Amino acid sequence: MENNIESAVDEILEIIEANREEVEKDLRKFIEYGVPLEHAKKAVINKYSGSAKEKKLKDVNINEKNIITVAKIIFIDEREIEVRGEKRKIYRGWLGDETARLQFTAWKDFDLKEGDVIKIKNASSSEWMEQPRLNLSERTEVEKLDYDIELIKRFPERYNLVDLRPGLSNVEVRGKIMSIEEREVSVGDDIKKVFSGIIADETAKVRFTAWKDFDLKEGDVIKIRGGYVRKWRGAPQLNFDENAELEKLDEEILIEEKIVPLYKIVQAQGGIDLCFQGVILEVRKDSGIIFRCPKCNKRIKEGICDDDGEVDGNPDLRIKVLVDDGTGAVDVILNREISEKLLNKNMDEFLNLAKEAMDYGIVYDEIVNSLLTKTIKVRGDSIQSDLIVTISAKDAEIIKIDEKKEAEELLMQLEG
Ligand SMILES: [Zn+2]
Repeated sequence: MENNIESAVDEILEIIEANREEVEKDLRKFIEYGVPLEHAKKAVINKYSGSAKEKKLKDVNINEKNIITVAKIIFIDEREIEVRGEKRKIYRGWLGDETARLQFTAWKDFDLKEGDVIKIKNASSSEWMEQPRLNLSERTEVEKLDYDIELIKRFPERYNLVDLRPGLSNVEVRGKIMSIEEREVSVGDDIKKVFSGIIADETAKVRFTAWKDFDLKEGDVIKIRGGYVRKWRGAPQLNFDENAELEKLDEEILIEEKIVPLYKIVQAQGGIDLCFQGVILEVRKDSGIIFRCPKCNKRIKEGICDDDGEVDGNPDLRIKVLVDDGTGAVDVILNREISEKLLNKNMDEFLNLAKEAMDYGIVYDEIVNSLLTKTIKVRGDSIQSDLIVTISAKDAEIIKIDEKKEAEELLMQLEG
């Protein structure tokens, strides 16, 4: 009990400004009258409420009274509510100091504006989404101060590169600069130097753009806090500017090719230098022999190029397949060289086949026969596409699967 009283006195003195002996005397009196300790504590705090200490926002708890604090209005919004049949204006928003950000509700018009720094006396707190929310009532005093205060910085969230997806902001990543080049872009009337390249960690490679000169060199291992991710050329791109913190690290990162589950590629909406493996579930209809415009290399139909009109098309072989690994699916485009390797037949042989049959459809049938349901391992980059994530293969091979081993591995993955 003695220890409890001592620590209760400590707690009270953190909240109010008062003489220790007097607080202890008052507390003991309440307890002698049979008041439980927690109630006694509150009663003593109430007695000295006029001498509450100014506190930082991080020290505000749920359901407190007599709160004194200094804070900056981050955001404020007016709304009308009905209380007992009467329309009333209330003000909601966020305020902050260097330790925390809290929601607040003002039940009367204190003439608050975003950016105001205010001293608040006699506020209370309630609960909102498991966080304290400050209430400024009729009894609350608000005084505008003529100085500025710092706001707490939100902590960036840490990501592996493989988990970056367009739309994320305030990310922390670590990686090795694999390549970097300088270029100039015009921003309004200004010419700005930006630095673009590829950064890699143990999980993936990602394109980046640094909008400020961080003095980066190929081979640097860095940590970036406060980056953001946008989609660019069909893949996520990491961006960082003068708002980001960059630190060079004295460590090595082992970059090796890893097979990525397809759902990660789908979530990221693409990627570069991807490696994955899955089953070919469909050969898309436009696979086989196609004809390209000799001037612009675009695919032509019935001898007509959209841009160049009637042309004598050059034949090309290309395959588009749907690859599924059980976690997700992507389209994969295989160019002539890779297609010839996978089909073990070159384009001229296919052209002869089609001439004999007088039907290019025979090429499609043969592709289906040799590739459908086969397991394929692919390395490539995603390209701009509207619907499904589409990978342009840089290399691909058909994998002979030890089915028993495959099943065991899948089971192990599922069991985590
Ligand atoms: Zn053309």
